[in-house]
Amino acid sequence: MSKSQEILDKQKKYLWPNHLLYYTDALPLEKGEGMHVWDVDGNKYLDFFAGILTTSVGHNHPDVTAAAQEQVSKLIHSSTLYPHENHVNLAEKLAEITPGALQSSYFTTSGSEADDTAVMLAKTYTGSQEIVALRHGYSGRSATGMSLTGQSAWRVGGTHISGIKHALNPYCYRCPLKMTYPECGVACAEDVEEVIQTTTSGRIAAFIAEPIQGVGGFITPPPEYFQIVSEIVKRYGGLMIIDEVQTGFGRTGDKWFGIEHWGIEPDIMTMAKGIANGFPLGNTITTPEIAASTSGAGLTISTFGGNPVSLAASLATIGVMEKEASPAHTAEVGAHLRAGLDGLQDKYPLIGDVRGKGLMQGVEMVTDRKTKEPAVKAVAQLFEETRKLGLLIGKGGMYGNSLRIAPPLTASKEDVDEAIEKLDIAFARVQEASIDN
Ligand code: PMP
Repeated sequence: MSKSQEILDKQKKYLWPNHLLYYTDALPLEKGEGMHVWDVDGNKYLDFFAGILTTSVGHNHPDVTAAAQEQVSKLIHSSTLYPHENHVNLAEKLAEITPGALQSSYFTTSGSEADDTAVMLAKTYTGSQEIVALRHGYSGRSATGMSLTGQSAWRVGGTHISGIKHALNPYCYRCPLKMTYPECGVACAEDVEEVIQTTTSGRIAAFIAEPIQGVGGFITPPPEYFQIVSEIVKRYGGLMIIDEVQTGFGRTGDKWFGIEHWGIEPDIMTMAKGIANGFPLGNTITTPEIAASTSGAGLTISTFGGNPVSLAASLATIGVMEKEASPAHTAEVGAHLRAGLDGLQDKYPLIGDVRGKGLMQGVEMVTDRKTKEPAVKAVAQLFEETRKLGLLIGKGGMYGNSLRIAPPLTASKEDVDEAIEKLDIAFARVQEASIDN
């Protein structure tokens, strides 16, 4: 029996069946280095999903590994009860690279926890309870996270937390108002006001959104969207919580954080995934004024929050980004990736839309460009073909028909060329099969 079969058999026997696994025969990985991972049977893959946008400077980057190893040999755990040098140094670094007046951090272990913490903070500061989130958004797997999430499939066990309302999302390719940008005047943004006026008490704690909806399928808003929404949210007393779990750390090119493209300064920002190259770490950063509201507001603790090893890894990860994978680098390589994907769209009718920024590029697949019927079967076939060709990509979108292309930020133009070449071959095969069908 192959090693992979042995693992898959045990997976079936000992793990919950609701683990979402890619590929008809799931892919057990064994090792990674830079842009590549290897499966347990020795097959090599070019990784253009980066462990869900997490291995931001490539697998097992030597600087990150060395920093983590050094910390492991000194102190593995401290909890948030004791200040730690890495804790304050990373908080200082994040204050430096985040936009506006963001300065004060609370470290946790995941994106879900970071979003939960943001909601807790907004409620504490404003004294209001209601939150407006976006349809198609994703905020995590905690009760609050699932309730904030705007997709039914990700709400296992039903909706949980009351007081969360969902506004229309700025999904231009499938405009919820059936309008066209720019003639629409970004009408979807006005829906936030309608939602506040009709479904809340009129005094909200916050609006939460991702600068580009990640799990939603890299849905990219028109440039004016966040400015219009921010003005509305302020009028109703709410804070702007910006979830940078996927878009943070240069992923979108040119800027450290995705929201910087959209011209507003968040009151609270959440981050995780790429922050520590795969080590578990989440953070919720806010302004000193908003952070001050937590003083005397009750007790909170995170046993694993601010784990010194994850923090050491994060400091090293940001150090590598500054040297080898700056926002300027991701903008340049991202533009190259986008040009390659646009070229594929010209060739293959299966590609309905290409969108995103930097090294966060989405490809929405449709059976017919006019009806925009989601090409779910073709996506599954494309996954099998790309796997055979040694390329890993991601998928998402409420209809499961959007590819998520997001390599480590250290990717070079040559890596992109290789990925586009493999995608070209895979699309040719799938397009031909779908014509035959
Ligand atoms: N927010 C966003 C935007 C995410 O993409 C995710 C994870 N996909 C989360 C929050 C939750 O993060 P985690 O899985 O680390 O809890």
